[in-house]
Amino acid sequence: MQKLLSPEEIATQAGSEGSTNRLPAPHLFAERAARLRTLADGHAMGDFLRFAARLADAQQSRLDKLTAPRPDSAHLERCRQHGMPPLDAQGAELPADWQDSLKALAADVAAHAPAGLQNAIAGLADIPAERLDALARAILRCEETLSNPLELALAPLIGAALQVQWTARAQALQVGDIPSGFEDSLCPACGSHPVASIVRIGDAGHGVRYAACSLCACEWHVTRIKCVPCHNTRDIAYQGLENEQGNPHPAVKAETCPECHSSLKIVSMEKDPFADAFADDLATLALDMLVDETGFHRAGRNLFLFTP
Ligand code: FE
Ligand code: FE
Repeated sequence: MQKLLSPEEIATQAGSEGSTNRLPAPHLFAERAARLRTLADGHAMGDFLRFAARLADAQQSRLDKLTAPRPDSAHLERCRQHGMPPLDAQGAELPADWQDSLKALAADVAAHAPAGLQNAIAGLADIPAERLDALARAILRCEETLSNPLELALAPLIGAALQVQWTARAQALQVGDIPSGFEDSLCPACGSHPVASIVRIGDAGHGVRYAACSLCACEWHVTRIKCVPCHNTRDIAYQGLENEQGNPHPAVKAETCPECHSSLKIVSMEKDPFADAFADDLATLALDMLVDETGFHRAGRNLFLFTP
C-alpha cells in the first residue's frame, strides 16, 4: 500500500515545477479594468463597475512604479518548511510606502468617485498617519474597528492601496517560494481570504480550479466540488443567477456547503475566457443576495466592498 504524504512532506517535495500556486500577472489590474468595463455594459450597477475599473487602472499605474524586494532566503525557507505565508498580511509590518500608494490612488480617482468617497478623499489629509496605519491593519486582519462614515467610505481605497503593495511583493517572489500542496482555505503567500475561486484554461491546466487571493492576487490550487473554507466534500451544491432570459452571468456560480453554511463563488474561464475572479465577483452581487436568502453566508472577501 502506498504511504500517504503529510502536508509538510508534500510542501517540502513541491519545487517550482510541481507548484500548485500561481503568481499575479504583470498587467493584472489593467486586465481587470478591461473586464470590469465589459461587465458594466448594460449592467444595473454599471456606474459602480465603471468606477471600479477606474480604480483598477489607478492600481496598475501605481503598481508599474513600485519595486518590492524579495524576502531573504532564510525567511523563505522557513516559511516553505512550515507552510507559513512568506508575505504575512496579519502580523508583519505595513510596507513603508503604502500611504504613498493610497494618496496616488486618491488623486487618480477623486474626480470620478461617488459622492461619499469624494468627501472622504477631501478629508484624507486631516487623518493622522498613525490612524491610517491602524485602519489598514484593521482591514488586513478583518477587524471591525472602522466606525465613522468617513473611514468606512475610505475603506475600499485603503483596500485598493494594500492590494497594490501586496501584489508588488507577490510579483517579486518566485513561484517555488510559496508553500505548496496544502490546499488551505487561506492564501499560501499572504494568509488572506480568497475573493472567489476560478476554473482556468490554457497553461494553468484546463479545468483546474484555483482560489484567488483577495489581497495579493496569488492563486492556489483547490479541488473541485470541495468547500474551500472547511474542506467538506459532501452535499456540495451550486446556485446561479436567473432572469426571464435565462442566466445573465453563466460564468459564475456559488458553491454552497451544508457543513459550514458558507458559499464561495466559482468563476469559470471555460464558460468565458476573459473572466476575472475579482471583477466577476463584483458584477454578481445579486448572486450573493440569492445565496444569503437560502441560508448561506458569503465566504469570499472583496476589498472594494468593505465588510469586516
Ligand atoms: Fe495572498
Ligand atoms: Fe464548508
